[in-house]
Amino acid sequence: MNAPATLDRDLSADFPGLCTAEGKPWHYLDTAATAQKPRAVIEAMTRALGEDYATVHRGVYARSAEMTLRYEAARRRVAQFIGGQEDELIFTRGATEAINLVANSWGRANLKPGDRILLSQLEHHSNIVPWQLVARETGAEIDVVPLTQDHRIDLDAAEEMLGERHKMVAFGHVSNVLGSVLDAPRAAAMAHRVGAKLLLDGCQSAPHMPVDVEALDCDFYVFSAHKLYGPTGIGALWARGDILADMPPWEGGGAMIDRVTFEGTTYAPPPQRFEAGTPAIAEAIAFAAAADYVAEADLDTVRVREADLVARLRRELTAMNDVTVFGPDDSAGIVSFAIDGIHPHDLGTILDEADVAIRAGHHCAQPLMDYLGITATARASFGLYSREADVDALLEGIARTRRIFGTSG
Ligand code: PMP
Repeated sequence: MNAPATLDRDLSADFPGLCTAEGKPWHYLDTAATAQKPRAVIEAMTRALGEDYATVHRGVYARSAEMTLRYEAARRRVAQFIGGQEDELIFTRGATEAINLVANSWGRANLKPGDRILLSQLEHHSNIVPWQLVARETGAEIDVVPLTQDHRIDLDAAEEMLGERHKMVAFGHVSNVLGSVLDAPRAAAMAHRVGAKLLLDGCQSAPHMPVDVEALDCDFYVFSAHKLYGPTGIGALWARGDILADMPPWEGGGAMIDRVTFEGTTYAPPPQRFEAGTPAIAEAIAFAAAADYVAEADLDTVRVREADLVARLRRELTAMNDVTVFGPDDSAGIVSFAIDGIHPHDLGTILDEADVAIRAGHHCAQPLMDYLGITATARASFGLYSREADVDALLEGIARTRRIFGTSG
């Protein structure tokens, strides 16, 4: 495939984390857990914590006023990255906190006994447990959509299940285990037909494909900066302005108020209403730097590149008699598999000796593991710095593991 100029360059050179302590290449295939950081992000964070550092929204001195402008510019940049408006974007600690915010604020205000929440079998625990907690409090109930044969959320089944009592549909846009991509506009149309809202867990879509919340037609979209080559400790909730305007505060404190008295407090408009306390200032600025970096790499190109790596790895693994490969062929940058007679943890440990890092376990998706009838998978996940050499190293490592275990594929 032809890659444009930006990706003709080996982007891995921008990532100091991509080599071992001995200076050898590190075959990092765990980007779905967290992505390595390019120098541009590290430098933005260092500058924000160093010569630019000051608080935001409160200081009367120039440095604080400048930092406030930088922080709000970061909000604008991150909102624009997903096609949203700046006053519709709330900085959170990550996707997990963003879903908890929606469940606690929107959920408590809108769910009542007998209402239903529609989730799917492949959700990350972050998109299950907050809904269980709010369901228990409000008397709402949860329904679970099964998967298709090729491990996508079964939207035909979802369509049959959805009824007037459903108020929320919360689906993973891309599965962190299977890489399956949701047909989000169809899910949105189905949810809206019965008057429900659609929340997309975008943790694994934002790093792998261009996202436009308007085109997806969702009501809420959440994602984490650290999976998008940005820092930990920050993520975002995007929500439609009219929905946010009606949502009550979730956490109370400084910065989210209009006026505080002991008789009663009034609240700031969104997004400030949902950002209590001093925010993660340097992280927000580095989040915006990550958005700049990814935009320059061009997600359309990244997607094609990652699809080539996925296709090759799936092809090679599928040709092995003792390997089960999960998820659909067009998985977004993620390949989960299991080798007969070799536990994924053992595989991960032996691969580590060859400087190959994969993830092994339930991937915070135990209901999905139950559905697949397994307890764990091995997962290789790609990023914009992944190369053929990483796939070569993984395949060599699998062959070596087989020799150690005395099995053959
Ligand atoms: N949803 C999905 C699909 C994820 O992959 C993850 C991270 N593994 C999360 C939610 C939670 O993200 P965070 O831990 O950054 O809040």
